[in-house]
Amino acid sequence: SSSTPTMLPPLGETLKTHGLLAKKSLGQHFLLDPSVCHRIAGLGAPLKGRHVVEIGPGPGGLTRALLESDAATVTAVEIDERAWPILDELAAHYPGRLNIVKQDALAVNAAALVPAPRQIIANLPYNVGTPMLINWLRQAGEWERLVLMFQAEVAERICAAPGTSHYGRLAVLSQWCADCHIGMELPPGAFTPPPKVNSAVAVLVPHVQQPSPQLFKAMERVTAAAFGQRRKMLRSSLKSLGGITLLEEAGIEGNRRAETLTVAEFARLAALEATKR
Ligand code: SAM
Repeated sequence: SSSTPTMLPPLGETLKTHGLLAKKSLGQHFLLDPSVCHRIAGLGAPLKGRHVVEIGPGPGGLTRALLESDAATVTAVEIDERAWPILDELAAHYPGRLNIVKQDALAVNAAALVPAPRQIIANLPYNVGTPMLINWLRQAGEWERLVLMFQAEVAERICAAPGTSHYGRLAVLSQWCADCHIGMELPPGAFTPPPKVNSAVAVLVPHVQQPSPQLFKAMERVTAAAFGQRRKMLRSSLKSLGGITLLEEAGIEGNRRAETLTVAEFARLAALEATKR
């Protein structure tokens, strides 16, 4: 009868029907296993009433899991026109719940796409994942949560503690704006085609208080200088920003190195740096 709902074919079949072969230049590694996709979507829970933005849905495995959750809407930003017909079919299957934005996510203001409360949940293209994250951190207060699959090393750099080898600019910027933790890890074989390295999901829950744009820029200058020469003592790596005077004002010893500073100590430096311009 006309009321019989059509079933979505398994994702592997959809890929074959549409002849969608992964393109390396677009960082394409697809998740075809529904249970893995549901575990990632679950890291956003509770999703009831939330508007989810997904970056790079590709053939739509994670998109399907998000649509099967109780999220209010899913808005998926995909640059690859070969995936658009697949996503249009999926949207027809979930009337009023899936919007496809056929654009480069780096050129889109993701927070402006949907009303609050909003989350980003995505298996990111690895080549542009970090610049995308930094853009979202600039407006972290717009997001209730960000659930982001990266290559494992990037997820570790987001969540790293001071004094560890992965601690750097990305850890300071991320943890200054959000509580960060690794939500799950996946081996290469979970993806089609498998990437060379392990992957991990970083979960970021933005703090209630967020830095102003001016303060964020000051933190970018401080961390770029401090970690640009991470082996040097801060009194020399921060010379162009006031060196020992800045450090004294912040109550930080000039002979310390960037990787030993806590996020709170970096925040003191950024606050002083921000007042200078
Ligand atoms: N979400 C799908 C999955 O989990 O199977 C695909 C993930 S794949 C790692 C990354 C996706 O991001 C691809 O579909 C790719 O085409 C898309 N992509 C790459 N660069 C993009 C950009 N600048 N803007 C939007 N999407 C992009």
